[in-house]
Amino acid sequence: MTATPAPARPRRKRGEGQWALGYTEPLNKNEQSKKDDNPLNVRGRILSTYSKRGFDSIDPADLRGRFRWMGLYTQRAPGFDGGKTATLEEEELDDRFFMMRVRTDGAILDAAALRALGMISVDRARGTADITDRNNIQYHWIQIEDVPEIWERLEAVGLTTLEACGDSPRPFLGSPVAGIAKDEIIDGTPAMDEIKRRVLDNPEFSNLPRKFKTSVSGHPSHDAAPEINDVSFVGTVHPEHGPGFDLWVGGGLSTNPMLAVKLGVWIPLDEVADAWEGVCAIFRDYGYRRLRSKARLKFLVADWGKEKFREVLETEYLQRALVSNPSPGVPTRQGDHVGVHEQNDGKFYIGAAPVVGRVNGELLVALGDLVEKYGARGVRLTAWQKLVVIGVDGADVESFVADLRTIGLDARPSNWRRNTMACTGIEFCKLAIVETKARAADLIKVLEQRFPDLDTPITVNVNGCPNACARTQVADIGLKGQLVMDADGQQVEGFQVHLGGALGLQANFGRKLRAHKVTSAGLDDYVTAVVTNYLADRTEGEQFAEWAAR
Ligand code: SF4
Repeated sequence: MTATPAPARPRRKRGEGQWALGYTEPLNKNEQSKKDDNPLNVRGRILSTYSKRGFDSIDPADLRGRFRWMGLYTQRAPGFDGGKTATLEEEELDDRFFMMRVRTDGAILDAAALRALGMISVDRARGTADITDRNNIQYHWIQIEDVPEIWERLEAVGLTTLEACGDSPRPFLGSPVAGIAKDEIIDGTPAMDEIKRRVLDNPEFSNLPRKFKTSVSGHPSHDAAPEINDVSFVGTVHPEHGPGFDLWVGGGLSTNPMLAVKLGVWIPLDEVADAWEGVCAIFRDYGYRRLRSKARLKFLVADWGKEKFREVLETEYLQRALVSNPSPGVPTRQGDHVGVHEQNDGKFYIGAAPVVGRVNGELLVALGDLVEKYGARGVRLTAWQKLVVIGVDGADVESFVADLRTIGLDARPSNWRRNTMACTGIEFCKLAIVETKARAADLIKVLEQRFPDLDTPITVNVNGCPNACARTQVADIGLKGQLVMDADGQQVEGFQVHLGGALGLQANFGRKLRAHKVTSAGLDDYVTAVVTNYLADRTEGEQFAEWAAR
């Protein structure tokens, strides 16, 4: 005789850690750490204690947690390859040196700022400096004893590392040509400045469920990657109210990529900061905190839908109805701003490419010298690991371009140099599985020889792990670092390939082709074969992403 099963008890729906619904108990060690002490307080301990007593005095909860709010991560100890890493705890990979991120938030770096950034690199970071795809300068080899002095030098030129990492409002992406582009819809700079003034170092916004990424651009080319930020303000023209911003929410990549959703509202320039605060507060209050893997705004937006999100924003946070925007808001072209372009005041801006964002201290100092020599306004960083020199007189353009080339910056780069990005990778990143920057630089050299006259842009994004810091899913050829089998059945560094992703005109995620796994050593030939197939098979005018989607 079989026993009759007891009737199932209705299961109590478990919260996801949303504060606004009463789930305030910390549910994981990250939440507990933030509850134990506001992460912004770690600044005081760095100044008063850790920088004086050295690395061994650092509380582990600060070292691997709250330091991030100061833009500091321990870097990867040398000597571990991807295979060994799989069996190690994070602590075992800690070096006694730090990676430090300096946020620029779309600001113009003048000659003094560039020289300060360069000399910090020379004096305190073994010459390292990378331009990241979030408008940051990233150093390596930083010692805790040097941090107070570095902060002083940065603050003297208006820069900070504050909340450059951590569960906080991360560095903002702005248009590199804000206020100077001839075809700009609206200059978002005042809004960016106001958001920064309200939120940086503000405990109200320093304990978010996870990172929160912001993009503000009034340029029609969507040059600040609005599709993949948590909140984006995108220049638009309302048929009655004129220039303003569309509000997009819930974009992000990593392991569950989602494109941002347009809320269908029009925000005037002087209300952008209010709307930003409302969206960030929704994330803080309703965001999921139980599982780190679901603690991004995109999951809440996906569950709520744009109608509910707008309603909560209007009723609970802004206490006013927003203006609906019927404008479709389609970008006019892809905007990396590389090359020479005339500004709205008759001067010129020059977009120039280092190789995969890698610069160095001497280069930054030399760039500051060039800015002074030619009387230019300064430099902005781009969301594509490039930079834009602003305010160059027409008569000086060609000599400025030539001088940039002598310091390693190319204003007329090949497709491959222009359109290849790489994340930090195994050289310094503890999460990395494979090497990226040097691998991508070698790939560029090979492709420049094999396809010197490519007549259409093809983007290549090289990533050291699934976290997609260099945007695996939105490149024509997106590479996600992982261990793969070589021909001898050995596990070696390699990549899972995603083909046909894009931002801008045809924003879309690339297709992950399971059979397309390539060893790092075989990457040059793999990309060569794919590009050769595309060039032979494309129809007239067919872009790579369209071809790959067939
Ligand atoms: Fe590190 Fe992975 Fe991000 Fe690359 S994608 S920087 S390896 S976390």
